Amino acid sequence: MSGSNSSELRVLCSSGQLLLQPLWDRLRTRDALTQSPFFPVIFAITTYMAFCLPFVVLDALCPWVPALRRYKIHPDFSPSVQQLLPCLGRTLYQHVVFVLPVTLLHWAHAPAFLPPEAPELLQLLRHVVLCLLLFDAEFFAWHVLHHKVPWLYRTFHKLHHQNASSFALATQYMSIWELFSLGFFDMVNVTLLGCHPLTVLVFHVLNVWLSVEDHSGYDFPWSTHRLVPFGWYGGVAHHDLHHSQFNCNFAPYFTHWDKLLGTLRPCPSQLGDETPGKAP
Ligand SMILES: [Zn+2]
Ligand SMILES: [Zn+2]
Repeated sequence: MSGSNSSELRVLCSSGQLLLQPLWDRLRTRDALTQSPFFPVIFAITTYMAFCLPFVVLDALCPWVPALRRYKIHPDFSPSVQQLLPCLGRTLYQHVVFVLPVTLLHWAHAPAFLPPEAPELLQLLRHVVLCLLLFDAEFFAWHVLHHKVPWLYRTFHKLHHQNASSFALATQYMSIWELFSLGFFDMVNVTLLGCHPLTVLVFHVLNVWLSVEDHSGYDFPWSTHRLVPFGWYGGVAHHDLHHSQFNCNFAPYFTHWDKLLGTLRPCPSQLGDETPGKAP
């Protein structure tokens, strides 16, 4: 790399750090919630609910607003209250009874260290992309194993498949083993890569959004799989197919692992039907 290129990169990096510093300063103030041992659980629940809520509202509006149905993968399906409440109850129960004690123990063992400096923007982006790719690979391996071994499927993963037509609040309708496995994959990569705490938060928010989008049942023109080029990203259309057909599209986000193992099944939009949910 030439001298001028490397100095330009240094300027870009430090301006990226300056960009994030005010946000990071606010987050790490002594009184801020981030210092609390309860922060991980409160943050996990609020981000999840915040991302689910718009889809819950859309589902409630769907029977009255026909225009919305053209974006639904299953246009005639809207989750009932009897389907929504158990999902909501399970998420809250598992976070309070299981996740909270584990995060409290972790906090007591190693309280959060918040460095004074914000991360560089480019490093944050690099780490977030790497964490997403690693999470995708780890969950792909876990997911294939829990479908191929009948005992693992029956005991740990079947519950998540109870809703053949998925909806946002069904994202975390899963056994505690599956929830802890996802949490472990979420945390192990940021630890191995030595990510800055702000990067950890950004990755967590993105990971929750992508998993909720995967289960939302809505295929919008701005859905992630339509924004990422070359069919690299499967997203909601692929994961919905996994929920209805079981034996395909095991990766939660990207398509390369399913391509390599021959388990990728294209979604209807890739077969020429560009209008989701609409009969060809
Ligand atoms: Zn799922
Ligand atoms: Zn599955």
